[in-house]
Amino acid sequence: MPSVDYYEIIGVPKTASAAEIRKAYRKLARKYHPDVNPGDDAAEEKYKQLSQAYEVLSDKEKRQKYDQYGAAFQQAQAGGQWQGADFGDYVYTNFGAGSFQDIFGDLFGNMGAQAGRQRGRTGPQAAQRGQDIHYRLNVSFADAVKGAKRDLVFTVADRCAECDGLGGKATQCPTCKGSGQSGQRGFFGMPAACPQCQGSGEIITERCSSCRGGGEVARERKVALKIPAGVHSGQMLRLAGEGGRGFRGAPNGDLILELQVEEHALLKRDEQDNVTVELPISVVEAIQGAKVKVPTVEGPVTLTVPAGTSSGQTFRLKGQGGPKRGSQAKGDEYVKVKITTPKHLTKEQKEAVERLAETWTEEPRKGMAEGL
Ligand SMILES: [Zn+2]
Ligand SMILES: [Zn+2]
Repeated sequence: MPSVDYYEIIGVPKTASAAEIRKAYRKLARKYHPDVNPGDDAAEEKYKQLSQAYEVLSDKEKRQKYDQYGAAFQQAQAGGQWQGADFGDYVYTNFGAGSFQDIFGDLFGNMGAQAGRQRGRTGPQAAQRGQDIHYRLNVSFADAVKGAKRDLVFTVADRCAECDGLGGKATQCPTCKGSGQSGQRGFFGMPAACPQCQGSGEIITERCSSCRGGGEVARERKVALKIPAGVHSGQMLRLAGEGGRGFRGAPNGDLILELQVEEHALLKRDEQDNVTVELPISVVEAIQGAKVKVPTVEGPVTLTVPAGTSSGQTFRLKGQGGPKRGSQAKGDEYVKVKITTPKHLTKEQKEAVERLAETWTEEPRKGMAEGL
């Protein structure tokens, strides 16, 4: 959905008063009304945009939020994407269209219209499964390898318990006597919805004070999340029933997490899901042997590098990897040695190396002699 400017649609400046907005809207609404432009799709589209813009700008609270959040508010209305909510240890990114309102509705207090439309379609008593909520979940490299238990805290818009999501006290619509129809023909010759109740057959007489008429309240939800060992980016975790709340006894939606495994500065995983690391050691350590600290997903461990270790030699730290792909067996960590050679030596070191060279008899390229 393209970003639209509600003020532009109605044709008023941002500073317009409520009366000016109403006047400008009415003038355009008369002009583009589908009843006076039968079969004109462009006019119908224009009329829809007008209604949407007016729905926001005519409501003091919604207008304020629109002024403050602008495009994000429009996207929230359209069920589009929104990024960057920060929930504690994890950064979530919403990637699913349509599931968006569950999280965002509470921030914008925009659920009234949405809930109303849904009731209009399905009847006020209809049970409705809650929406699935999609998030991208960043997981540290160590958590991805060895698995983890994490508390996930996030805010969802929950059905207001005070009014059961109706936004207030519902009574039969006096205009249509509860039928939801106006008795006139509207678009495509279908019976037109009652203009007062938008087809739901009910109107809200007393605004609920607890949700201020929106039908939804923001609620913090805590979920004990178990990240299985050996997960990779792109894998999904589905938490049944942790999505949007079901309506009238219908089950909740699910919380669906797409995992995004963060890169580790030192550790990597090979094809078999073994952890790998490159370990720099000095020439002296390579010659004499040394005990050196090596990072693992469980924290640093001490590795004994034996005397006479060559560059590229690989040591195995048994059981220090995650479970191997497709098996329960614990993987290992492979430590590949890389000898670092100093560029600058002190006078004493140079002399020592010279003495060493005088006595050196080893021929490292012996096997290569024929090829040279
Ligand atoms: Zn009605
Ligand atoms: Zn309420």
